[in-house]
Amino acid sequence: MCPAEERMHAVLLDAPTRPRLLVVDDQAANIQVLYRVFEADHQVLMATDGEQALAAALRHQPDLILLDVVMPGMDGHTVCARLKASPDTRDIPVLFITAHSDPEQETKALAMGAVDFIPKPINPDVVRARVKTHLTLKRQADQLRHMAFMDGLTGTFNRRLFDDRLAMEWSRAVREQRSLGLALIDVDFFKAYNDHYGHQAGDDALVAVAGALKGAGRRPADVIARYGGEEFACLLPDTDVAGALLVANRMREAVFKLGLHHAGSSVAEVVTFSAGVAVVQPDGNQAPATLLKLADEQLYRAKALGRNQVCAPPGPASGTP
Ligand code: GH3
Ligand code: MG
Ligand code: MG
Repeated sequence: MCPAEERMHAVLLDAPTRPRLLVVDDQAANIQVLYRVFEADHQVLMATDGEQALAAALRHQPDLILLDVVMPGMDGHTVCARLKASPDTRDIPVLFITAHSDPEQETKALAMGAVDFIPKPINPDVVRARVKTHLTLKRQADQLRHMAFMDGLTGTFNRRLFDDRLAMEWSRAVREQRSLGLALIDVDFFKAYNDHYGHQAGDDALVAVAGALKGAGRRPADVIARYGGEEFACLLPDTDVAGALLVANRMREAVFKLGLHHAGSSVAEVVTFSAGVAVVQPDGNQAPATLLKLADEQLYRAKALGRNQVCAPPGPASGTP
């Protein structure tokens, strides 16, 4: 997960955290004033110049930034522009705090993506009220963003997020000359499962399978997504074939161990899946679809060779439980 997504998860899914503010001002006394306004029910981070502010924003993913405009070195406008230019920090609301508030300055700041403007000297009640409003808006926007990339049934990532992440990891692998692995997973005889146990039980089984897959993935960078109806995709950055096979087989075992009875399967008494694994070290001339195609070919082989197994080039590489 990228830093922005990690923070969003922490705020939306984990134990509620206190809102995190980053206060940027070259005058320590100004920071102190704002610190006192917010310290009781916020986590307050501080930076005294633009460079520090950018580093802290990236690293700590504050929920909101209070940004001084006039600072030696990098001024507030430049800091704001840099924050808005990076996908890792662009969604953090920025409130400018400044002594010089003329309409021209305000228009410029708002056009840059700032959400509000607070005049110095600050009035604690006003700044508290405005911060509260923008934190609420940020939380609502995070919830929408979160829903937009999660699969509603299984709670794994959805296809949209997967496609985005595949493109991103692909570019990274090209740039850093690293390998990128993928496992495509397809539940065996799932139509028969639905026919026998009903669609609701089918849904429950998919939720359980997704849980087992998530439990078996280890690295934070791995992305497990619902790719289609009863298909899941697991993106494995910086992983070789042996590693990808290991993960896929660990997942296969985890799903097998769920022990979900499957009367309609001719390969096992319980729900199983077949998977195709592929690993590439991409160059700039290939497209991410190459990796999907290779993994899909191996999935096809796994099905053809009898299901409940993982295949990878150059040959079948797993037994049955
Ligand atoms: P194979 O072993 O070849 O993969 O056979 P299969 O029956 O799993 O494959 P097929 O593609 O013929 O059927 C997939 C079935 O998965 C169709 C549908 O009944 C079921 N399915 C897909 N999405 C959902 C879902 O969201 N909920 C439920 N309950 N079933 C789903
Ligand atoms: Mg399928
Ligand atoms: Mg299937």
